[in-house]
Amino acid sequence: MSNERDRVLGMNRGITRRDFLNGCALTIGASLTAGSPAWLEMMAAADTAPEKDPSYYPPAKTGMRGSHDGSWEVAHGMRDGQTWPDATPDQESYDLIVVGGGISGLAAAYFFRKFAGSNSKILVLDNHDDFGGHAKRNEFKTGKRLLIGYGGTQSLEAPHHYSKEAFGLLQELGIEVDRFHKYFDQNLYKGMGLKRATFFDKETFGVDRLLSGFGTHYLGLTYPPEILAQIPVSEAARKDLARLQETKVDYLPGLSAEEKRRKLTKISYKDFLLQYVKVDPEVVKIFQTAPHGLYAVGIDAVSALDCVEMDYPGFKGMKLESHEDSPEQAEPYIFHFPDGNASVARLLVRSLIPGAVPGTTMEDVVTSRANYARLDDPESAVRIRLSSTAVRAKHVGNPQDANQVEVTYVRGGKAHKVQAAHCVLACYNMVIPYLCQEMSQKQKDALHYCVKLPLVYTNVQISNWESFRKLGVNSIYAPGAYFNGASLDFPVSIGEYHFPSTPQEPCLLHLLRTPCKPGLPAKEQYRSGRYELMTTPFEVFERNIRDQLGRMLAGGGFDSARDIQGITVNRWPHGYAYEYNPLFEPLDRPDSERPCVIGRQPFGRIHIANSDADGHAYTNIAIDQGYRAVREITAGGKDR
Ligand SMILES: Cc1cc2nc3c(=O)[nH]c(=O)nc-3n(C[C@H](O)[C@H](O)[C@H](O)COP(=O)(O)OP(=O)(O)OC[C@H]3O[C@@H](n4cnc5c(N)ncnc54)[C@H](O)[C@@H]3O)c2cc1C
Repeated sequence: MSNERDRVLGMNRGITRRDFLNGCALTIGASLTAGSPAWLEMMAAADTAPEKDPSYYPPAKTGMRGSHDGSWEVAHGMRDGQTWPDATPDQESYDLIVVGGGISGLAAAYFFRKFAGSNSKILVLDNHDDFGGHAKRNEFKTGKRLLIGYGGTQSLEAPHHYSKEAFGLLQELGIEVDRFHKYFDQNLYKGMGLKRATFFDKETFGVDRLLSGFGTHYLGLTYPPEILAQIPVSEAARKDLARLQETKVDYLPGLSAEEKRRKLTKISYKDFLLQYVKVDPEVVKIFQTAPHGLYAVGIDAVSALDCVEMDYPGFKGMKLESHEDSPEQAEPYIFHFPDGNASVARLLVRSLIPGAVPGTTMEDVVTSRANYARLDDPESAVRIRLSSTAVRAKHVGNPQDANQVEVTYVRGGKAHKVQAAHCVLACYNMVIPYLCQEMSQKQKDALHYCVKLPLVYTNVQISNWESFRKLGVNSIYAPGAYFNGASLDFPVSIGEYHFPSTPQEPCLLHLLRTPCKPGLPAKEQYRSGRYELMTTPFEVFERNIRDQLGRMLAGGGFDSARDIQGITVNRWPHGYAYEYNPLFEPLDRPDSERPCVIGRQPFGRIHIANSDADGHAYTNIAIDQGYRAVREITAGGKDR
């Protein structure tokens, strides 16, 4: 990359985003192993209670966030065999220790207080510098104006279909979901004539071309004839695409609807296109990354039946019989706080620790500034200890009759141990076998089965969104590009927070990247994507952001060097919970044989929560699993 190109992209501009560690992620991935001099130095530098400093405010950090540097090194050391035999015993002891301060862990703390009493002493440990896990808040300042974005968990999806426990929790926290009909301006973009678009990049399609007026990230990808005629593929591919979209052919004649559905679960959409519809291979390129937002892999590793549910073309003549609308289709996608479900995490913290998140309503939580100094307060019954990685959870005595669990955790480079009557592991499934070495091999294998999906949610602050208005687009799918898509933020105004609803105002763009290796089995793709994320420095993301936005929005006058004001890359090497993929796994596995069910069985006084525990990457599942784990303790598991 030449210096001149960097200048045009604005790589030299003074936005707040590169710090030393971010810039060194490549070296870290390659050489920063636990115990190495660089690692020790970094850990020693971490203050033991940095959150007591009034300037401690992680949501305002930009640059590399998500699983930020400093959050994962201890856990990787544990994985690689490091031990901490000389842990210092903490003075306190608890009724419950929760490992993992995401929505599941916070919900577990909430339910435990509800059932065991509000005086229960609870310690929540999390390895990040902020609470919420995937539910991460990103803030940006432009002049006096605050822009709030979501760095992970995006929305409450179809909340009316939540379990009574999950929906009840939202209500108890003060979330009236129906108010989002008022808060989410469903007509803003439509009223301005903005539509969805596809960006065809020259590396994949021979020419850069933005075509607007259709298409989405993952639902209903159908091109109208006037657009189809401009797609930069061969004439043969265009004809095949038209045939795929328009003709009503039964590609599996002679089978009943049920037999077809079963067959389609075992065929990838890519194979369906190539072997059954027999399209030109160039058509595959258009659809390859369409399911990335949901599956973090492309159509080579997603079943054709899943693509039926997402309304991809090719199934019109298949007589598959209409299934009832999925909950997602039945409810609009509007249940969104400006910081995504970080607001749910913040409301949970508000209810657990008085004064930690000031305010009383679902409206004021949006702009309330969390007081991190309150999180780990000896006066509070519930304490949240950040930047603390659990490295061991074991019973004091035999798991069958022990009265206490001892958890060892590392904070600021020092190991501590602390005891409680019960422990809920609301962290990642694959971490648990390292924490609980006495578990049966069967349970450990089941926990290891899950490979979380890697993905990157990037927020880019831009000085105005005139270029989108001029181009007539609000969301762009980019099948061949580094980022799979870019969208203007959701137009949500709540309480004191007002969405920048005129194009002259600064706003946030949301960009998605899901690194994977098409052609490999899904789990291998996830492993390779995770490696890529851990070894990609911030600078590479930044250069790609600037290059891609500049090219996609060039026709609207966008200038990356001039218009980009801030960047936060939320890297999630361990992102969505692993959901079983019928292409690679047995179809009719009884519930009791699902690895997540085997893995989540209670182990003495240790119980397992987190969305991995039910194999579904959703907030309601995280809450349900927190509830189940707590009911195993407080009701002997009787009501579940
Ligand atoms: C980018 C992204 C977008 C998403 N969007 C949505 C959405 O729109 N709607 C939806 O319903 N769901 C969404 N999800 C799914 C999301 O994961 C769940 O909704 C939910 O937030 C998961 O909560 P959790 O507590 O189960 O896990 P997490 O949020 O992962 O929390 C677990 C916490 O435990 C910590 N931990 C792990 N090991 C240790 C250890 N040894 N010691 C201490 N702490 C540890 C982790 O670092 C993490 O902070 C999204 C997920 C991602 C990654």
